[in-house]
Parts: sequence; structure tokens; C-alpha cells
Amino acid sequence: MAKRQFKTESRRILDLMINSIYTHKEIFLRELISNASDAIDKLCYRSLTDESVGMSRDDFKITVQTDEEKRLITISDNGIGMTAEEMNDNLGVIARSGSLQFKQEMEKDQESAQDIDIIGQFGVGFYSAFMVADQVTVISRSFGTQEASKWVSDGADGYTITPCEKDAAGTDIILHVRPDGEDENYSDYLKPDTLKRIIKKYSDYVRWPIVMDGETVNSRIPIWQRAKSEVSDEDCKKFYRSHFMDYTDPAAVIRVSAEGAVSYKAMLFIPTEAPFDFYTANFQPGMELYSNGVMIMDKCAQLVPEYFRFVRGVVDSPDLSLNISRELLQHDRQLKIIETNLEKKIKAELKKLMENDPEKYQSFWKSFGLQIKYGVVAQYGAKKDFLADIIEFYSAREKKFISLDAYVAAMPEGQKHIYYACGENVQLADGLPQTEPVKDKGYDILYLTENVDEFAVQVLASYKDKTFKSVNDDDLDLGDDQAEKKEADAAQTENSGLMEFIKESLDGKIAAAKISSKLKSHPVCLTTQGPISLDMERYFQSLPAGAGGDVKAERVLELNAAHPVFEALRKAYENDRPKAEKYAKLLYNQALLIAGLPVEDATAFSDLVCSLMD
Ligand code: ADP
Repeated sequence: MAKRQFKTESRRILDLMINSIYTHKEIFLRELISNASDAIDKLCYRSLTDESVGMSRDDFKITVQTDEEKRLITISDNGIGMTAEEMNDNLGVIARSGSLQFKQEMEKDQESAQDIDIIGQFGVGFYSAFMVADQVTVISRSFGTQEASKWVSDGADGYTITPCEKDAAGTDIILHVRPDGEDENYSDYLKPDTLKRIIKKYSDYVRWPIVMDGETVNSRIPIWQRAKSEVSDEDCKKFYRSHFMDYTDPAAVIRVSAEGAVSYKAMLFIPTEAPFDFYTANFQPGMELYSNGVMIMDKCAQLVPEYFRFVRGVVDSPDLSLNISRELLQHDRQLKIIETNLEKKIKAELKKLMENDPEKYQSFWKSFGLQIKYGVVAQYGAKKDFLADIIEFYSAREKKFISLDAYVAAMPEGQKHIYYACGENVQLADGLPQTEPVKDKGYDILYLTENVDEFAVQVLASYKDKTFKSVNDDDLDLGDDQAEKKEADAAQTENSGLMEFIKESLDGKIAAAKISSKLKSHPVCLTTQGPISLDMERYFQSLPAGAGGDVKAERVLELNAAHPVFEALRKAYENDRPKAEKYAKLLYNQALLIAGLPVEDATAFSDLVCSLMD
């Protein structure tokens, strides 16, 4: 019997399968089950109008059997089947639209193993059987015909088609499993438990029963396909906990049923706690993507924007059939539409949670706020307005995290800015002397304690027309602080010699010393001039060696001219310069400590204090 040759373009994909180094070989089963399900769909559809089909919905099923001894896996369906001619057309050639593009994608980067991954993501159908089988037999009888045909191939050198017997319409795919190799234990695929696991993983929601050993393995109707009224909150949470392996309940569940440019159903979960690896490169974000119950991808990152990467969930769209999905470009466009919709839903849900259950939102914020603040800063602030109203910072007055809305709403008349202070933690920020004038005025202050916070605030620039202002700012614009400023300016001129002396004594550590207009009860504080603040400097220094460059803040030592200590300093400057130099150093080190920075030389500092106590 003459061997027929595969069409050239099919051979390429076949070669790829036979010599596949792709590690997720198990997806062959998903592909064959998906074909079987399509074939049943076709016959079931036909049965609606054609009584001669003689089957009801409940009669359709897919059966998977193994024979470990003969090394066979058989996948059978009672669907529409194929004639000899259809076998030749369908299994001998890859001519369908999507496949051609798939092939081109493969050719583009043939060397790159990375691209092989698109097999796993988008499927290549029937040929994937050759990843695990050295011989594939297809026995099929097309509905409405009496004769059946047998297609056999051991891969590259072609296939044969011969007549055979089969009781009823449908298809059996028989795989002869390859012998075990050095790097792959193919015998594993012959074990019923392995096959059941693979079915659960990829084909759990295929709507036809997948039967093994007389038992239906798949759960068929996914929870996200059921009507909202049929599924309780508790059901959703239970599904979340078991499916996404979290022992805490989600903070919120979002259900979406969309019709339009792309139809899809989605069930999303906002976790309460961050997984231990969330802020590491190991964490893989993404949604599970299904097409009619068949899993296409288990982590589709394109479906969630970076700033919502903590969201878990499933998206199921019949518009993303395995066929269409091979057309990658079209696929991308559809995913983009879904992403845009989902991002709005997630934001709306977070806003709702913030307003209705502030306590729950706080624990959510503690876990994932950092990610959202990164989102404000990313892409040159492209998303800052979208994200601004779900951001929270710690409030000095409320002693808890509050929204920017809440801050602005509580602003007394006359307050023009949103004041903030940076510190490594709330206590340090709260202890900063420069917060005093703002507090005295009765204005609230937001404490920024995470590295990204100050960048986020600078990108936001303002909220509801109120600009952000650091308590370090020279001009706090408190309304009645002009007198203080004038006074400070006068004192600055009067003490210019002393200021210059302090700067010199500190030997390049500060850019300037100046009389402060903000200090009330404290003698000193450390601020900066120029664009880099102390907290930004701290951030850059925390980056892995080299990455942050040598970013340094220009430090300014501010002194309180009304404090008794200042008088002591001035006297020493006039009468005892060595002592004045010691005072300058002491005050600088105090300012460092108050700002939450380490003293540069602890022993020298200790000696300095001792020498002054003598
Ligand atoms: P795809 O399913 O993406 O079209 P495949 O290579 O998996 O590509 O299958 C090629 C074609 O072979 C299918 O479109 C279908 O017409 C036919 N086919 C495959 N498996 C079956 C089956 N179990 N029953 C009937 N037809 C099938």
C-alpha cells in the first residue's frame, strides 16, 4: 500500500513535534480532547435538526483508555467522525488559516526554545500527539456513512489510509507511546492517574463528559459559567481557596459577563494577603484563560495590567477558540479589549471596598498598596489619574491609612496644600521637627514610609487641585508664616559668618547651613535643596550596587535661632572656635538621628559627646 506524503508545511510542524524539546508534552491530551469535543459539538448541533442522528445530549461522551502493556492510549468520541477523504484533507495537511501563521511564527525564531512555548499556549492540534507517540492510528466513521477508515502514521515518512470496520459514527485516536528516553519518562503517560491529572488540569470544564474507568473525570460546568443567582459568595470563596491555593478568603470577588466586541465570562479575585513571593521575580502574574472550557493558558499576563498583577482569576471566551488563537495578532487585540474592561472593573471594585469596608481595604492595602503606587510612577505617570483615588497614606491625625479624598475633605478652610513628611517609619516621620508648624496650624500630614511614596507623590503632583507639599519645603505656605520667614531671613543675614563657619566645620557634608523658619521646639533639623530628597537618596542607595549610581541629596542643616542652644553656639563661635566646631558637629549628628539616618562615625560621635561633657 502506497504511503502518502504530508504536505510540506505540515511536515515542518510535524518535525517540530517529533523532535520536540518542549517540556509540557502533556498538552497533547488537551488537544485531542478538544478535537473530540468539537466533533461532538458538530453532531449534537446536527441532532437538533436531523432526527436520524438518534442521540440525545446525554449520550455524547469522550472516553480515554490505556493499555500499559501494549503502550497504548485511546481517545474515543461519538461525534461527527471523518470520511477517508476528510482524513486525507484534515490530517495530511495543515491548510487552515491559523496554522499558516503559526508556522511563520515558528520559522521566525526557530532556534529559540522560548518560542516553542507558544505550542503550550495556543496549541497545534492533532500533530501534538507525535510529541509522545511514535505511531498514531485514527479510526473514524463519518456520521451518515456505513464504512469506516483507518489512518496510520509513524511520523515523518507519511501515512496510509485503509478501509476498516467501526460500529458507529465517531473517532478513535490510538497513540502508541514512545519508549522511555533519557530525559522523558513516556511510560508515565500510560498511568491512569497521570492522565486523570492532565484532564483535570487542562480539560476540566470541557462540557462533554470525559470518562475513564467508567467514571467522569471532568467537572464540566465551571463555576464562572453558572448564573450569578446560582452561585453563593461562599461557593466563590471555596473555589478561590482550592483553585488558587490560598488559605485566606479573597477580599473581593468580581464576576463579569460581557457581550460585545469580545464576549467572555470572568471571575476575578482580589486576595487579602500577598503570597510570600509576590514582590519577587519568581511571582508569575496572570489569569487562567479558557476557550469554551478548554484551558489555553494558565497564566495569561496580558489580561491584567502590572499594577493589578495581584488579581487572580479566570477568563473564558468562546471567541478565543484554539483555532482563532493561533492567529496571534487577532488574539492580541481581543486580549487587549478584555484587559481594558477588566482593569475598569477591578478599579471600581477596589473603590467600592475602600468606601464600604475600610478595614478590609487597609489589610488589602498593606499587602498590595506598594504595587499600585509603583503603577502611579510607571510609564511616566500615564496611569496616575486612574489610580489616584484608590491610594492611601498614613494620616498623622487619624492614625491610620486614609484616602486622598478623605484628606482633602477634612482640610480646614484656608489650607492650600496636601502636606506630607517622609520617614523610614511612622514614628520617625512623626518625630521630624519640621512637622511642627504644620501640626500647630491644625493641618493633617500624610506620612510617606515606603521608598516609592515620594516618587508617587511627585508624579501625582496634585489631587483635586491641591498640590502636595513636603514639610521640608522652604515655603510651607501656611498662610500666616510670612512673618517667620522674614525673621529667619534677617537672622540669616545677621549670622552669615556663623553659617559659613558651620558649613566649613562639617567639611563637605552639607551644602548649606541656614536659619530655619519652621523650627519651633527643636534646635535643628536636616532638609535638602535641589531635586533629590533624603528619602530618594536612601532609595537609590538601597538598589543593588551600581544601579542607583551615586545619587546624593544636597543636605541643608537648619537651625532654630530662637533656641537656647543656638545662643550657646553663637557665643562659642565668638569666643572659642574649637568648641564651636564641636557644637556644629554635634548638632549635625543630632539632625541625622532625628531624620532616621545613622551617624557616620559612631565612635567619633561618642568621643565628641564625652569631650563636651568634661
Ligand atoms: P484544529 O482542530 O485546530 O482544526 P487539528 O490538527 O487538531 O486542527 O485537527 C484538524 C482537523 O481534523 C480538525 O479541524 C477536524 O476537522 C479534524 N479532526 C481532528 N480530530 C477529530 C475528531 N476526533 N473527530 C472529527 N474530526 C477530527
